[in-house]
Formats: sequence, C-alpha cells, structure tokens
Amino acid sequence: MARDGSDLCLNCGLCCRGVLHGHGVVRDDEVGRLRERGLDVFESNGRVSFGLPCPRLGADLACEVYADRPDACARYRCGMLDEYLDGVIDLEQSAARLAEVERLLANVRAVTDSAMTIAGVRQRWRRGLADYLSGDPATAAEEQAAFLHITALCRYLDRYILSPLEQSIMRDLDHSLEPTPDPS
Ligand code: SF4
Ligand code: SF4
Repeated sequence: MARDGSDLCLNCGLCCRGVLHGHGVVRDDEVGRLRERGLDVFESNGRVSFGLPCPRLGADLACEVYADRPDACARYRCGMLDEYLDGVIDLEQSAARLAEVERLLANVRAVTDSAMTIAGVRQRWRRGLADYLSGDPATAAEEQAAFLHITALCRYLDRYILSPLEQSIMRDLDHSLEPTPDPS
C-alpha cells in the first residue's frame, strides 16, 4: 500500500504543537467550519489564520479532526515527512528524530517561560543572536545557557525536520537580525 504519511503524522504532531510555526493559513471558505471545530481562527494584516499550538491535537499526539482538518494541514509536508514518503527514512528513524526533538525541547522548556510558544522562543533567540553578533552579550550565565539550548533545538529542527524551503526561509529570518559588517 502506498504511504500517505498518516502513520507518521498521527504519532508526531510537531507542526500542530507550534514547534515549527506560530500559525497556519485559513482559506476564506474554511473559516466557519474551522471555528466550529474549535480552532482559534483570527485575522491579522488582512490574512486569516489559525493559532498554534492547535487545541485539536489529542494527548496521544493524533489530530482529533484529521479527516476534516484545514487544507493547510492536509497540504503541509515538513522535510522529515518528505523523506519518509520518499523512502529515505523509515518510521524507526523518524521516531529517533522525534525523541531527540523531545530531549532538546525539554532542555529549552527548563530554561524558558512555559507560556512562551516555541515560535516566540525562536524569535527571542534571533534577538539574542543579534546581541551576540553585535558584540554585546550583556547576558548572565543563565541567559547564555538558555541561548545555547535554544540554538541546539533550532539547528536540529532546521537540519532534520524542516523542508529545504523552510530552512532557507529560517536562515533568511535568522540572518535578517545580523549586524551589517563595518565597511572600515
Ligand atoms: S507534517 Fe511533519 S511535523 Fe507535521 S505531523 Fe507530519 S511529520 Fe510531524
Ligand atoms: S487541525 Fe489537526 S492537523 Fe491541523 S494543526 Fe490542528 S491537530 Fe494538527
């Protein structure tokens, strides 16, 4: 039987948990249906989105509305899912990657505000990176430890979970806060 990825995704849920992105895009004709399903649908800058982490992710990491999930969820393929569908990795190898993400996430959660989303943590990390690169790491030892844990998580996600396109977008965002080199 051809793989459709559901055996991987219904045991993963990383994208649903907001670990990779802070929101998902909603088509105009989906707004009412997704609100009825309990998703947090909102409008910002003329675009309709739903918030992540998603309230419809079950405790077993399976989507509770999988057959009726948003189009964005049905179409989304992270890099790991692509590799699985292409036969580059199997379920065991993807489970090992997910276990490593959980270990790195636990390290990050131990040193960050639990109310902060991972997208928010990454944004904070970018600002920390800018401070470091501008030669102004006015940070205490605890802050530096947090910075290193977040760096480890972000780099692992970039290398083993995100798609090449997402990796390049993240690289651009990360670099957008780098200081411009002094021409002198
Ligand atoms: S698309 Fe990727 S991150 Fe999302 S549930 Fe599937 S395997 Fe996990
Ligand atoms: S609707 Fe389902 S697939 Fe989409 S983010 Fe929520 S839990 Fe994940």
